[in-house]
Amino acid sequence: MTVVMIAKVDESTCTACGDCVDDCPTGAIKVDVVAVINANICDGCGVCVARCPTESLTIVEGPKRLPSDQLPPFIIRYTEGRS
Ligand code: SF4
Ligand code: SF4
Repeated sequence: MTVVMIAKVDESTCTACGDCVDDCPTGAIKVDVVAVINANICDGCGVCVARCPTESLTIVEGPKRLPSDQLPPFIIRYTEGRS
């Protein structure tokens, strides 16, 4: 298992402006009522943290991940399909 860092949204201050979505290099953020981070795609780069005008994003320890050679086949197909 590998511990990774990911972005976390403060739902009490996020205004759903969408600025972080535009700048995320991995496409890990979507905005519904507030911004939502896909922990399977976020690589913890911090670009969104710098972009957020309300300081609603921080980088935190994320869920533990399996090494890439131990991922289930459907996850490997999913990640290979991303550009
Ligand atoms: S940039 Fe900040 S305020 Fe705007 S949607 Fe993203 S987290 Fe929310
Ligand atoms: S830390 Fe990087 S990869 Fe993760 S949501 Fe923010 S901009 Fe996207």
